Amino acid sequence: MVRTNHLIIGVALFVFLYSCGPSSHYDILIQNGTVYSGDESPGQIMDIAIVDGHIYTIGKNLKGTADRQIDAAGLAVSAGFIDLHTHLGPITLYPSAESHVRMGVTTALGGPDGTSYIPLGAYLDSLNRLGVGLNVAYLAGHNTIRGQVMGLENRFSNSEELDAMCLLVKEGMEDGAFGISTGLKYLPGTYAHIDEVIALSKIAGQMNGFYTSHLREEGLGLIEGVAEAITIADQAKIPVVLTHHKVVGFPMWGSSSKTLAMVDSARNLGLDIMVDQYPYTASYTSLSILIPAWAMAGGRYDAFAKRCLDPVLRDSIKKGIEFNLINDRGGNDLTRVQFSVFNWKPELEGKTLYDWAIAEGLAPTIENGAELIIQAQLHRGASCIFHAMQEEDVERILAHPQVMVASDGRITPINKGHPHPRVYGTFPRVLGYYVREKQVISLELALHKMTSLPADRLGLDDRGRIKKGYKADITIFDPQTIIDKAKFTDPHHYPAGIPYVIINGKVVLDGPIYNDIRAGKVLRGPAYVVK
Ligand SMILES: [Zn+2]
Repeated sequence: MVRTNHLIIGVALFVFLYSCGPSSHYDILIQNGTVYSGDESPGQIMDIAIVDGHIYTIGKNLKGTADRQIDAAGLAVSAGFIDLHTHLGPITLYPSAESHVRMGVTTALGGPDGTSYIPLGAYLDSLNRLGVGLNVAYLAGHNTIRGQVMGLENRFSNSEELDAMCLLVKEGMEDGAFGISTGLKYLPGTYAHIDEVIALSKIAGQMNGFYTSHLREEGLGLIEGVAEAITIADQAKIPVVLTHHKVVGFPMWGSSSKTLAMVDSARNLGLDIMVDQYPYTASYTSLSILIPAWAMAGGRYDAFAKRCLDPVLRDSIKKGIEFNLINDRGGNDLTRVQFSVFNWKPELEGKTLYDWAIAEGLAPTIENGAELIIQAQLHRGASCIFHAMQEEDVERILAHPQVMVASDGRITPINKGHPHPRVYGTFPRVLGYYVREKQVISLELALHKMTSLPADRLGLDDRGRIKKGYKADITIFDPQTIIDKAKFTDPHHYPAGIPYVIINGKVVLDGPIYNDIRAGKVLRGPAYVVK
């Protein structure tokens, strides 16, 4: 009898709440925040009501009750940030993706630099079953596809191989890829002729995907690298993103004025070229980027080691490394190469090539640096942070209207290894350092570069803006205090000034508490075929 009474009271309460109209009770009500739509318009003090994972309504002084009220007075309320270049690989080990969500990211695009999964559909299904801490989207990867068809062979593809690769691009798109990525500086994409890349990109373009490229060169060959990407946009009829755009190596510093002018003139000709960037003067990648690609044909380690046994080949490998140390990522100074992951000598993680030379009793010359790099590669290589960019280029690129913010960061467990600080700090650094402190761009422009601009590139019409009916992916931060705390010498710090991150209507970051509730969704691209 008591139970029946409770049921009647419960039903009466339900009827009462809904008879007032569904607008009167919300899942979440965010009040008094300064709301930025994502479309470059200035912030306005508004309330946002969330129901069933969506933005139900936006307005001034919204009336009603909510399961959860968030007082956002004095805080900025933005669509969650969309990161167009994420090394999502470790998400299977760290599905909460805390390092990314804590910097305000609610959607991340994986499969960059030519590296992705085959078959992509099965991989995405496995992520669905696992549950992911933020929304994820993927690209098909040229290097993965070429590797599957041709291994690490240093030659152009023949027509049969090209057909096989075209089929894999088509299948990747049908599995839900948003486009194709290349890493033409890396193995084995670096061995590909531009015609191969055009043929594959044409297919992705016909299926409404876009093309994003780690350029063939970012140092001495940067201008040619940008020109190649623009040619691909033109010939393959595909929208293009020049990803993690940068100018590497002192001989080229200042060249961003040229590359951005190339982007402008290509756009004036009707080509759809965009750019993304992380806000640091150092890059991060494998140490083998300093080794001539021909020396690693057939294999980064064993084939490389075999060539090193031949004194003539070894000498040209060393000369090639010396050239790159001087002109490219080495920055002409051994202190600019900092070890990040070095399994052979973990005591050097965080230390530089200069430190290693000194510890070995060697003079810190370019020649000795090249010798140590050969030694490192013979012991399965290392990943390094390369301090070889100029601040003026970083600022000029950030200010360009077609440039989006993207981290190039890897999902990172706190306190493991010595990562590039971008894995924790990219978005807060732009908002705290480049917007508030250096005033390179305005707050609303920065948010545009982090939300609606990348959403539009992905073709998402329900994320990336604060708009009625959109998915409730929302980042709330304090524009007066937001800042990156991760430093090159001491990287393992989450940023400050981001109290709340909401993903699909669930409060994931809730003040000091991080809820591992896997609120993300696996997103599928424009040509996805349900099987
Ligand atoms: Zn890259």
